[in-house]
Amino acid sequence: MKLYNSETRRVEEFVPYNPSEVTMYTCGPTVYHFAHIGNLRTYIMEDVLEKSLRFLGFNVKRAMNITDVGHLSGDSDDGEDKMVKSATSQNKSVMEIADFYTRAFKADCDKLNIKWPEIVIPATSEVESYIKMIEVLLEKGFAYASGGNIYFDTSKLGEYYRFGKLSADELMVGVRDSVAGDDAKKNKADFVLWFTKSKFENHALIWDSPWGKGYPGWHIECSGISLKYLGEHLDIHCGGVDNKFPHHTNEIAQTEACVGHKWCSFWFHSEHLNDKSGKMSKSKGEFLTLSVLEKNGYHPMMYRMFCLLSHYRNQLVYTKEGMDSAAAAYAKLVKKLSTLGGGEVVDFEIFEKFNKKFKDALSNDLNTSLALTCVYDVLKADTNDSTKIALIASFDEVLSLSLVSAMDGSHELLQETETEISSEMKAWIEEKIAARAEAKKAKDYAAADAIRAELLSRGVEIKDTRDGVEYKIIK
Ligand code: AMP
Ligand code: ZN
Repeated sequence: MKLYNSETRRVEEFVPYNPSEVTMYTCGPTVYHFAHIGNLRTYIMEDVLEKSLRFLGFNVKRAMNITDVGHLSGDSDDGEDKMVKSATSQNKSVMEIADFYTRAFKADCDKLNIKWPEIVIPATSEVESYIKMIEVLLEKGFAYASGGNIYFDTSKLGEYYRFGKLSADELMVGVRDSVAGDDAKKNKADFVLWFTKSKFENHALIWDSPWGKGYPGWHIECSGISLKYLGEHLDIHCGGVDNKFPHHTNEIAQTEACVGHKWCSFWFHSEHLNDKSGKMSKSKGEFLTLSVLEKNGYHPMMYRMFCLLSHYRNQLVYTKEGMDSAAAAYAKLVKKLSTLGGGEVVDFEIFEKFNKKFKDALSNDLNTSLALTCVYDVLKADTNDSTKIALIASFDEVLSLSLVSAMDGSHELLQETETEISSEMKAWIEEKIAARAEAKKAKDYAAADAIRAELLSRGVEIKDTRDGVEYKIIK
């Protein structure tokens, strides 16, 4: 399998350290708020990566943390802990907040057919591991105590930043986040491993440590959990591109200083989903969640389809038009798949031919849009329906677009329900039908078709009859 490695900035042949098992680590969500659809894009692409590896014959052991402590506003060593801030504003305990948003995240993953990694560890449950790691770093001279906190000494490293070119200024955490530098640091790029002192004395989560009561920094969580559950040689570490610095840079620094050799061989970074106004961000407060998409009439699989249509290394801009077009394509695909029959003998030669094409697309640095095209190629192929069903079921192990349920007729979009629709929705449908009639009158058939597709993307199917246009809700 060929995969882009952010550290070498090249597409490389992926070779695991131990051929019998690929180890894969994912930075989990910071559970102070709902995940936005940008976060979910990253988790969808990581899910595709894990499933592709399995599809290509690798055995995968994957771990993910849940960040429930230590992620400070601004990503730097200054600012308030995001969890504590959220708990205070909602008048809840940090653990109640963590529990609520972890469940919400799991529910989003389930709806998007994102497989929950077999090892999922809340950061607060592994504090002992971080303390042990910090002790080793102090012993080896890579860390120092100053002003009540323990810092990592970046001047002890030959190379600190590994993901390309950043200027010395960009590497200063404090400068980057436009907050005051920390006077206790020996070097501006040093970062906190353990806090006993911070500007925010209301920190609700504190543990005993050899350096006094306090709490761990965010970066040490991922290093500690990864080392404990996946060992000293990690094959793939994943995250969104924003994690490259400071988070992943600091993870590499402290982990390699601790184990004394190279730690992770592949860095998989998924590009961001932006909206028209710029980067989607939880801390901005207003953002799109999966529930908002559902309220607007989209099935979660339509969002997965929207993501799979673009390459994970390209930025993706969310627009209503783009989403509508993915939604219409998905609804059409489900309908088409539901018409496949069966009961014939699978043609293995054809099966092998298309399965190979699909594998080639995945092996080419996860070319998901090409992998999707394979579904359409199979549908057009000159072979029997049983072969088509077998192939598409096989592809769906990776695509996870609920294509199997479309083929066996159990897909939600195929169920005719007497859904109550709101008066706003009714008015919207009628307005669209009228606009379509106008477009047809003006012989603008492209516009008329676009309106039909838009209606379908919201689960409204229309039919022209002698008595006018009829519509039905198909989900
Ligand atoms: P967080 O919950 O903030 O720790 O982020 C969870 C994951 O989402 C991390 O891997 C981030 O890198 C990723 N992420 C954050 N913002 C975006 C975005 N706009 N688009 C895609 N991924 C993102
Ligand atoms: Zn992490």
